[in-house]
Amino acid sequence: MEASCQCGRLQAQVADEARPFTILCHCTDCQRRTGSPFGVIGYFPSDAVTISGEAREFCRDTYAGNRLTNGFCPSCGSTIYVLLSKNSDMIGVPAGAFTTPHFSPPVISVWEQDRHDWVALPETVARHEKGTD
Ligand SMILES: [Zn+2]
Ligand SMILES: [Zn+2]
Repeated sequence: MEASCQCGRLQAQVADEARPFTILCHCTDCQRRTGSPFGVIGYFPSDAVTISGEAREFCRDTYAGNRLTNGFCPSCGSTIYVLLSKNSDMIGVPAGAFTTPHFSPPVISVWEQDRHDWVALPETVARHEKGTD
């Protein structure tokens, strides 16, 4: 599987056998990162992901007080990887960057108190007022 930024200069290659743990996050930082009401990121074991191309990084605190690093393309701004200080053996790749409608759906939905009123999720998605970050 391959994820790519909008301009194609930054990519993440993911081993075919790797299965993501997909998290949907409503927090306001994810809203600002994406420009969308929520972010969806698939977390893979780090050794299953290879990043290629030039990236810049932006680090911030999460609601839970851990550190989150966004790796984004300096040309077009798309986030292609996410690192969490709490889970250093995992790397996250935004679901939309894969441009497949068959990407593993979210297992959990976090920071539900920030969910936009109109956003409805399937009942298979566990909901939490706290995050996993
Ligand atoms: Zn780009
Ligand atoms: Zn978030």
